[in-house]
Amino acid sequence: MGGNEWVYIKECLDTGWVSSAGKYVDLFETRVAEYTGARHAIACVNGTAALQVAMQLAGVRAGDEVIVPTITFIASINAVLYNGATPVFMDADDFYNIDVAKTIEFIKNETLFKGCSSFNKTTNKRIAALVPVHVFGNAVDLEKLISLCEERNIPIVEDAAESLGTRYTQGRLKERHTGTIGKLGCLSFNGNKIITTGGGGMILTDDDSLAEKARYLTTQAKDDAVRYIHDEVGYNYRLTNIQAAMGVAQLEQLPGIMNAKHQQYENYARGISALADVSMASRPGYANNNNWMPALRIETDSAISMRETLMSYLEKEQIQTRPLWYPNHKQEMYRNCQSYQIKRSIQLWEQTLCLPSYQQMEEKQINQVVDSISTWHQKQTRLQG
Ligand SMILES: *Cc1c(COP(=O)(O)O)cnc(C)c1O
Repeated sequence: MGGNEWVYIKECLDTGWVSSAGKYVDLFETRVAEYTGARHAIACVNGTAALQVAMQLAGVRAGDEVIVPTITFIASINAVLYNGATPVFMDADDFYNIDVAKTIEFIKNETLFKGCSSFNKTTNKRIAALVPVHVFGNAVDLEKLISLCEERNIPIVEDAAESLGTRYTQGRLKERHTGTIGKLGCLSFNGNKIITTGGGGMILTDDDSLAEKARYLTTQAKDDAVRYIHDEVGYNYRLTNIQAAMGVAQLEQLPGIMNAKHQQYENYARGISALADVSMASRPGYANNNNWMPALRIETDSAISMRETLMSYLEKEQIQTRPLWYPNHKQEMYRNCQSYQIKRSIQLWEQTLCLPSYQQMEEKQINQVVDSISTWHQKQTRLQG
């Protein structure tokens, strides 16, 4: 917490505005909208709740299907289930994002457009939304998906939980922020994200009526707040003023945090570059990147065992790392759902190890991680030799 967090939170405590109303909730929403260029930003208790409500607002209903990537944090998928719908899983591209080419192929070849909706030929269910996730801060190549999704009336709900700050630098989406392209977009301010409110999230949209509905649903659907009249089932999903105060302070620091993260990626990449068969996961050239998560890629035949030995080696050196999320189409509750030609995702899961990174991490700490990876690498090479 390197900025005005103490000052703003103290003001909440001093004035008694600690709950889900107060100037910081409004200010945080305004600042996030200004920063991202979204017309509206609606604060939520967390990113998962934002996703749940955003999907509902996009029109996802019980019995529908939602196209999702298999490589993502489970929350993106669970939010589909919260709405009574079923996920259809897509493969990943080199940036861990939904494979746009395969998704287009799926929509063109495996769905039928009837009335004003697209239906899955295999299950006859309506495809109610597509949820691209900007994994690790890497922007999904959305430009290629937009026109087809419009033609087929498949609303896009972006999961931008990890990509606040990432902007497109080329093409039709140039200068646009991730999370502001689809009908709705979702952010997270969980403790592990690029900025945090402890827990928190945001729904982004350019649509005035969806924004109004989002605010209504996340505040218990009050039709007459004084007389307790509710015409719909709402949720208690509002962010508190204390959390929003922290968010305002954190957002002020985002450019600095992004600079630090960029430098960290460069330092990791420089350190790793000498080692054969390992590299830093690459980033898309069509966007700048918030560099939220530095990930190491091990490209050998036995990547999975290498990943495991490296993870335990680093653990002994007191360096905590994590593999990629387990592909969600293989999770217990989702393995019976449809998945479309998934291949690359499995490889990425085998090959990837997420490295330590936080705003204050110094160059000498990065070097320490790199040195440990190098030592492990030498041992492996010797073993194989
Ligand atoms: C963190 C995260 C979420 C969930 O956000 P919470 O605020 O933790 O509920 C959803 N999707 C992705 C990709 C995430 O990384």
